[in-house]
Amino acid sequence: MAPRVIFKADWGHNNSRRGAILTLEHLRNPRVMRILEAAAETAPKLIDNEMLVSEGWRDIRDTPDAHERHEAFDLSLNQLACHEGQRKYDAQNWANCLRAKLGDDYTVLIHGTGTNLHIHAQIKKGR
Ligand SMILES: [Zn+2]
Repeated sequence: MAPRVIFKADWGHNNSRRGAILTLEHLRNPRVMRILEAAAETAPKLIDNEMLVSEGWRDIRDTPDAHERHEAFDLSLNQLACHEGQRKYDAQNWANCLRAKLGDDYTVLIHGTGTNLHIHAQIKKGR
């Protein structure tokens, strides 16, 4: 069964504790919503069968990025249900499957370290 899609909760108003923001621009753009659909379709076994979206829209960086354009989502890798030794392999495997499913108009990367390890997926700029 495909995982439920959970958005990271807001813990407060400063940027480090802010939850994942979903905007009307996301909802109106099937190409960006496709990222969540494809991620849920390709997800490995996840804790509580929950896929955690850790970032949607944001405007906290000096340089413009796909999150600011409402064209990217981050997926937390803390939810992987595997044991620690398997984590990197499962993460890479999920990223590879997601990249294959989304095709050439998207970029899929693994970013971050430790508990911030996540898949970043976006529509390629200018596509
Ligand atoms: Zn990202």
